[in-house]
Amino acid sequence: SDQSDSTIPATLPLRNDLIGEEPYGAPQLDVPVCLNVNENPYPPDPKVVAAIAERVAAIAPTLNRYPDREHIELRQAFSDYLARESGVRLKVEQLWGANGSNEIMLQLFQAFGGPGRIALGADPTYSMYPEYARDTFTTWQLVHRNEDFTLDVDATIEAIQDVKPSMVVLTSPNNPTGTSLPIDDLEQILAVCEQVPVTGANEGVHPVVVVDEAYIEFRDPDVPTALPLIDSHANLAVSRTMSKAFAFAGARVGYVAASQGIIDCLRIVRMPYHLSAITQAAALAAFDHTDEQLARVAHLRETRQQTAQWLESLQYKGESIKVAPSASNFLLFGGCFDNRQRIFDELLNRGVLIRVVGPDGWLRVCMGTDEEMARFREALAEVLPIVE
Ligand code: PMP
Repeated sequence: SDQSDSTIPATLPLRNDLIGEEPYGAPQLDVPVCLNVNENPYPPDPKVVAAIAERVAAIAPTLNRYPDREHIELRQAFSDYLARESGVRLKVEQLWGANGSNEIMLQLFQAFGGPGRIALGADPTYSMYPEYARDTFTTWQLVHRNEDFTLDVDATIEAIQDVKPSMVVLTSPNNPTGTSLPIDDLEQILAVCEQVPVTGANEGVHPVVVVDEAYIEFRDPDVPTALPLIDSHANLAVSRTMSKAFAFAGARVGYVAASQGIIDCLRIVRMPYHLSAITQAAALAAFDHTDEQLARVAHLRETRQQTAQWLESLQYKGESIKVAPSASNFLLFGGCFDNRQRIFDELLNRGVLIRVVGPDGWLRVCMGTDEEMARFREALAEVLPIVE
């Protein structure tokens, strides 16, 4: 890539494979309507704000000490939450937290990737996966999805048997498409992985299957979670986060549910004391108020349904706009935008920030408050007819 405006002097011994790389992240712009990073747009209830302040104040006098490295109380809270949210009761030893599911994923790659190892994903998918792979010297490989963005199970199985990855990363709902993964498809993948050897590993070693469920709380009742399969599949890891439905992105708390064996692998690669006492206290306070934190999820699901319907009623240059079926809090729409950057720019000119991501011709919008969605609709209706 073009290095001409880089501030990194060529005299620094930056790793060869990082030369020319850019820090990852969506633009953090100060605009009125931010629908670009899939957050929950509703701020915490004042009661929760007070509870967080109280919990943090209670541990502040102990901040000269390191936090509980094993974050046992928080892992118990993850367990209680999942039992309530998905009806699956897991032991504390089957749960593990970190600073966002970003850090969970990095720890998974640190433990199960590495030089000579391959991680397999399904294109298009979350754009951070290749970065975790790069940072852990893991080869990142993609298998195509079906035209409707569902997993091409046969192609995925073929790819697994062909490349013998150490990790298969599936995302449900998938970002940026919103597509969910049927349990039957996951079971087929698990069955294959339990037979396949891993390139670069000892004999008898099989791939770990990671299901990234960052957006799963936004699913409709017919969409499954992978959690019930954990007890019968030692190589399955299900990643979750407090950042999305739980409206806690700023606190940076993600977690993973898996066999105790997988958790013990992650404990090898984690930084000591990676989760600060402040983070742990804030997360516990939020879990004390789970009802309040999840209060807007049903409404956001409705917003998604209504927005999808509205988008499908629109036309661009005589073509109907397509919307990928979504089980998340965002929608991938378009499919016919021959100049999506212009549409993005014109929306931004009107104070509405969405995301240029996914296959060419598509754009992604995250569900905002009612007022934000009204501004999005108004802006898009204005923009579509004027973009050439
Ligand atoms: N997985 C997916 C699929 C995501 O879209 C995101 C956030 N964009 C994450 C993981 C990471 O979120 P966090 O680190 O905030 O938990």
